[in-house]
Amino acid sequence: MKLDFCSLSSGSSGNCYYLGNEFHGILIDAGISARSIHKFLKNINIPMQSIMGVLITHNHIDHIRGLEQLVKKYNLPAFTTHKIWKSILNQQKKISSDCIREIPLKKKIHLADFDIEAFPVCHDAPETVGFHICAGIKKITIVTDLGHICQTAAPYIRAANMLVIESNYDEQMLVNGKYPHYLKERILSDHGHLGNHQTAAFLADIISDDLSNICLAHLSKNNNTPEMVLQTLQQTFSERGIILNGQQRISVLNRDIPTNMIRLTE
Ligand SMILES: [Zn+2]
Ligand SMILES: [Zn+2]
Repeated sequence: MKLDFCSLSSGSSGNCYYLGNEFHGILIDAGISARSIHKFLKNINIPMQSIMGVLITHNHIDHIRGLEQLVKKYNLPAFTTHKIWKSILNQQKKISSDCIREIPLKKKIHLADFDIEAFPVCHDAPETVGFHICAGIKKITIVTDLGHICQTAAPYIRAANMLVIESNYDEQMLVNGKYPHYLKERILSDHGHLGNHQTAAFLADIISDDLSNICLAHLSKNNNTPEMVLQTLQQTFSERGIILNGQQRISVLNRDIPTNMIRLTE
């Protein structure tokens, strides 16, 4: 079975990811306009009718900007926890109850051809989740907003064959940059975002032959560059004596334009 992943947009300006096989697809987050989602999917030959639902990680605008329009226009079900729904509906009051699907934490649900589990992560929203998705023999984990890797999230991340993980900021750029003090504190905190060194150190801990794809996601516009992300990762791996097996694919997701489709299985 074919399995493809594509990041339509990743970063503090908007997040939306596609995962699908030859029959069905799902989206993770709707942080860009419904129009852009439609356009980007069309560009990669994915018909909107094949999308069976959208999973939502939390209520920050860079994850739900297009949600209201998307579910309305395409009558698409959206899935997240009770608490996250409550926080979203405070902002997007017109979402029809027909499209609202509440899912439990840490329990599998089945959607299209996927088994999906939402698990809690530490981030400064009323509740934030990551998703662990089993698609045939492949396990995909998506964690885009988290201040640190807590005990509950770590097993889901370690189990992944494909991992989409945040590498939000370069620590020096953030500390020396123009953000106000309170914002720097928030980003650096345990409930903020993961910096390049944090992500690189964690990846050095968990890297194995089973982890074949790593996508570094949710880069800050002002405090990071794709080059810094890769440089930090390479440096950390070389300090730890880690040599990649040649099969692993590591990519940095673009902020504003879709990435090339990543094929996980044929
Ligand atoms: Zn975000
Ligand atoms: Zn967030």
